[in-house]
Amino acid sequence: MRMSAHIPGQMNELEAARQAALDAYAIVDSGPEQAFDDIVRLAVTLCGVSAASISLIDRDRVWFKAQIGVDQSQVPRELSLCNHAIDQPGRTLVIDDLDIDPIPAAKRRRLGGKPPRFYAGAPLLSPDGHPLGTLSVADVVPRHLTSQQVEGLELLARQTQHLLELRRLMLEQGQLLTAREAAALRAEQARAELQKRHEELQQTASRDPLTGLLNRAAMEVLLAETLARDASEQPPYTLLLLDIDHFKQVNDAHGHLAGDQALRAVADAVTQSIRKSDIAVRFGGEEIVVYLPGTALDGASEVAHRIRERIAQAPLSFSITVSMGIAAGDPARDRPEQTFGRADQALYRAKQAGRNRVVIDDTPFFSSIDPD
Ligand code: GH3
Ligand code: MG
Ligand code: MG
Repeated sequence: MRMSAHIPGQMNELEAARQAALDAYAIVDSGPEQAFDDIVRLAVTLCGVSAASISLIDRDRVWFKAQIGVDQSQVPRELSLCNHAIDQPGRTLVIDDLDIDPIPAAKRRRLGGKPPRFYAGAPLLSPDGHPLGTLSVADVVPRHLTSQQVEGLELLARQTQHLLELRRLMLEQGQLLTAREAAALRAEQARAELQKRHEELQQTASRDPLTGLLNRAAMEVLLAETLARDASEQPPYTLLLLDIDHFKQVNDAHGHLAGDQALRAVADAVTQSIRKSDIAVRFGGEEIVVYLPGTALDGASEVAHRIRERIAQAPLSFSITVSMGIAAGDPARDRPEQTFGRADQALYRAKQAGRNRVVIDDTPFFSSIDPD
């Protein structure tokens, strides 16, 4: 039964449901896609014709998702052969010679500048049976398709339907993300991005070439990132400041290159004595700062002694010693520069007391911010 035979009210309802079914694929006016292009190429080869298209019926026009040998990219619905084909939903329409069995619209269509003489269209249906359009082949000369060719065309139409369904499912899955899930995803992406930046910083640009430790600029970036986070979420930490003893004399006695070698040996001793989460920075010429998050004074003191032992065993032709100052900090209660100041004071006392030693800060912990 032809659609035009439906009473108008029923037709409008059916047509609205059909259009909604097509809209669910959000495919009309989308860009070309290889998978659909491949299907029309196969259809041309299979049927030995000059033209093929995947035609979709959109309101008052027919739009081609893929086409070969068809002059337009869309045509008014009344000029479409496809529109005619879906009048018998579920069945493939084959017209060997349009001169003998005419469709009025065909006279105004062009394939390579000529009117079509042959047409075959296999319907494309939505899962609940709405006609969406056709996979069509056409030619400017009369043709006859074998039953295998018709079957092959129908098989390609089914493949087209699978592609359409796949597209709809992917769209639906994308839309299933709730606003909360989308926000969580964005937050996770931002966190991963920050982590990546942190790792890049640790690995590349900000390393001091002589010692392989982070340089001072890197420490400032790390510090700024740390300060930007909520202080109450950060663990207490210790800062360890290290300075090589009488390094000027080392340079004077053994030469600057030997001095560089000693500096590298000290940096290696530090790197080998700390955990991955600890951060060591070449702070000045022969001064190193180590940030030990989640580490108390006794833990940091052990690290300091390990560093001294390693330096004592360093493969150098002369011996060197270092002095260290250690202070504890709590991000929830004091600022990093206050902790740094106390560690620096401790280092100064180590130097004053004769060098080659570790001094632990013993000033009242929070006196600087809590005079009461
Ligand atoms: P102190 O025990 O008081 O620390 O004495 P010091 O001689 O180590 O004194 P200071 O810390 O003031 O001297 C640092 C010296 O380190 C001065 C400079 O020549 C040397 N130095 C700084 N950077 C480098 C470097 O990259 N390579 C070498 N070989 N020496 C350096
Ligand atoms: Mg110094
Ligand atoms: Mg020194």
